[in-house]
Amino acid sequence: MPNTKSLPFDEATIKAIAEKYPTPFYLYDEKGIRETCRQLNSAFSWVDGFRNYFAVKATPNPHILQIVKEEGLGGDCSSPAELTLCDKVGLHGEEIMFTSNNTPASEYKAAKDVGAVINLDDISHIDYADKTVGLPELVSFRYNPGPARTGNVIIGNPSEAKYGFTEAQLFEGYEMLKQRGVKRFALHTMVASNELDGSFFVETSRMLFDLAIRIQKQVGVRIEFVNLGGGIGIPYRPEESPVDLAKLGSEVRALYEEMIVPAGLDPLRVVLENGRVITGPHGYLITECIHHKHIYRDYVGVDACMANLMRPGMYGAYHHITVLGKEDAAADRKVDVVGSLCENNDKFAIERELPAIERGDLLAIHDAGAHGHAMGFQYNGKLRSAELLLQENGDVRQIRRAETYDDYFATLDFAPFGG
Ligand SMILES: *Cc1c(COP(=O)(O)O)cnc(C)c1O
Repeated sequence: MPNTKSLPFDEATIKAIAEKYPTPFYLYDEKGIRETCRQLNSAFSWVDGFRNYFAVKATPNPHILQIVKEEGLGGDCSSPAELTLCDKVGLHGEEIMFTSNNTPASEYKAAKDVGAVINLDDISHIDYADKTVGLPELVSFRYNPGPARTGNVIIGNPSEAKYGFTEAQLFEGYEMLKQRGVKRFALHTMVASNELDGSFFVETSRMLFDLAIRIQKQVGVRIEFVNLGGGIGIPYRPEESPVDLAKLGSEVRALYEEMIVPAGLDPLRVVLENGRVITGPHGYLITECIHHKHIYRDYVGVDACMANLMRPGMYGAYHHITVLGKEDAAADRKVDVVGSLCENNDKFAIERELPAIERGDLLAIHDAGAHGHAMGFQYNGKLRSAELLLQENGDVRQIRRAETYDDYFATLDFAPFGG
């Protein structure tokens, strides 16, 4: 089967980049990121005040955040470090959603200090946040539908997930907020991960619209916005198709007209907090073949390893691989593409059909733009790679340098050993 996933660059471009920045490195496609932001914004342009809060954990780099901010996205954070990244690019106040769990008071304080929308993960945190940092004017709750939703196989069964309030706790919780003088209210859920079936998110909006209506009726609290969460999937495999964002937007709109308008709850803002769909397809891990090995199986050894991209090793995730310059060559070899960790799950591909790969060939590992570099680690003394941005004008800019051994050793004190 020929390679069926296209690239926004060719071999010559990457060869030129690799002369300046040694492999392995991440390369992000600015144009692609901007286009996806615009598609999502346009799909929900019918919502007054629509916003996708970009999940910072997907690609925690201020240069990427700057791009999505320019496209009108906010930031979804769950830690002080992520709040700092937002602050650096000028995302402030309600442009930030703080969706954390098992949260220490110091982190609620950090979120409150920047005026982020605080999304509480548990009913006990109403009192905890109130006593430690004081409740803000606007409070959101994260809902866990438990047995009411079982559709998404990737994130698992909501009743086994540690997140959120039960339905009964939501009603009790909004009542508590009202009594404590909170003035503004929001409702959130996140029940899917890497979901390619758009109808899943339509069902999520039905669930939240229904709750918003019942909360208004029973508690007398008006929900200002519902956050359908993130989790829109991307087609990692060439045979998969992306979620039709325009269709998703119009189906959610139809439900809004059917449920929210007659209930008198219009305007109710609808927001999202996707990370993967925004940057995932627009980031590549570029690595060079350094070895071949032929034992019981055939191996292609590359200069990146699982420390650069752990998704395949951690959950067997598929990442498409293109051998640059051999885009149209027959994939007539079956190989494992491996890194150098002393761990046998350090494999980017297992029994993958690829063209013959020579030492020095450059490989592009696709769909690494989200939860890629961010999940990197330093096991075995491996260093995290640089991140580069392919700008819209075709220039390449380094947006994070590669780690050095000084970085790796920075937390150790060698003085007792003679410095
Ligand atoms: C990780 C996460 C997201 C983003 O998920 P994607 O799969 O990157 O869209 C959004 N919200 C919460 C609460 C998350 O934990």
